[in-house]
Amino acid sequence: MCGADDEGADFTAQEIARARELRRGVAPVALCGRAVSLALMLVLGLTAGGAHLVGAFGGDWAERVTGGAVTLVVLPLLLGLPFGARVRVVRTRFGLVTQGWRGWAVDQARGLLISLPLGFGMLFALYGLAGVTRWWWIWAALGAAVVTVVLSFLAPLLFEPLFNRFTPMEPGPLRDALLALARKDGVAVRDVLVADASRRTTALNAYVSGFGGTRRIVVYDTLLTTAEPREVELVVAHELGHVVHRDVLRGTVAGALASAAGVCLLAALVTWHPLLSAAGVGRFADPRSAWLLAALASVGGTVAGPLGAALSRRVETRADRHALALTDAPAPFIAMQRRLTRTNVGEPDPPRLLHLLLGTHPTPSARIALARSWPEGGAAAGGAGG
Ligand SMILES: [Zn+2]
Repeated sequence: MCGADDEGADFTAQEIARARELRRGVAPVALCGRAVSLALMLVLGLTAGGAHLVGAFGGDWAERVTGGAVTLVVLPLLLGLPFGARVRVVRTRFGLVTQGWRGWAVDQARGLLISLPLGFGMLFALYGLAGVTRWWWIWAALGAAVVTVVLSFLAPLLFEPLFNRFTPMEPGPLRDALLALARKDGVAVRDVLVADASRRTTALNAYVSGFGGTRRIVVYDTLLTTAEPREVELVVAHELGHVVHRDVLRGTVAGALASAAGVCLLAALVTWHPLLSAAGVGRFADPRSAWLLAALASVGGTVAGPLGAALSRRVETRADRHALALTDAPAPFIAMQRRLTRTNVGEPDPPRLLHLLLGTHPTPSARIALARSWPEGGAAAGGAGG
């Protein structure tokens, strides 16, 4: 598919073979990890196992909620560790990991420190409501929608600094060019920041985060040290496309509606008697039902994942079109896609089923084909704004 026979092929046969080897090392382990995690949820959630586990923390309400939060956060994390570590070993062999095991362990601990209070808060609120009103699910649905919105807007500001350090980009032609792109797009940007991502990874990335007066362009230092300035502009133009099309806002609203609907569906299931008795719990308001709840939520998440990926691919294609219209520079766009794919040891044409299930972006071949089909001077005619 990716033109090993036409002149100037985008990827060499060697690059494609190496990417395939990486995928064959990683994908089965990652999929296995997901399957095992789902199996754990189902085994403990649809039998009395989960209820016994939570009950072991004590007989009173608060002890059981605590038991639910601790076991639901810690067990899946522990179970996922060997799979995550194995994926990491393979990725290290391909030169994709720069962070040591110690740093990795610290990141896992940080993740735990974020998930534990979130888990506690959610379960305390949920079971608190379920204990006092039979309309708890309406409040829970509203709460899920609100939490989705708040996390979507606050997470970048609260959590990004835990994992990366940011420094303002030095004044110069690149910074000017990036700010000019934002101006041309009518996007107000407060600053251009550089994230020290090279401490962890060789991955290349940039994004626009924050909203209103806090909006900033963030560029990975890895991108600055490896890519041509024109290519950095193309990455940022793509990110601006997300801002202009309000993808974060739309995604947040869609996510809020989906999570509210998901809570309503979950509420119907977790109060259904056959499921409760399978889980060895008399009524949902008993926090020993936490694993049943988590099992059903996991099944929902597994079903929703491919739908979300399909939606994401559409949004990413639109951002690519925006980048091409804004810059009218298909050649650096193609150069950037080739660089991204090579650096990430990505497959230009991954297996179709894997792509449909997990692919959040169009395939590299599709992105390059889009740029190849871009008409010369298309932006002047089409009007990219500005
Ligand atoms: Zn994107």
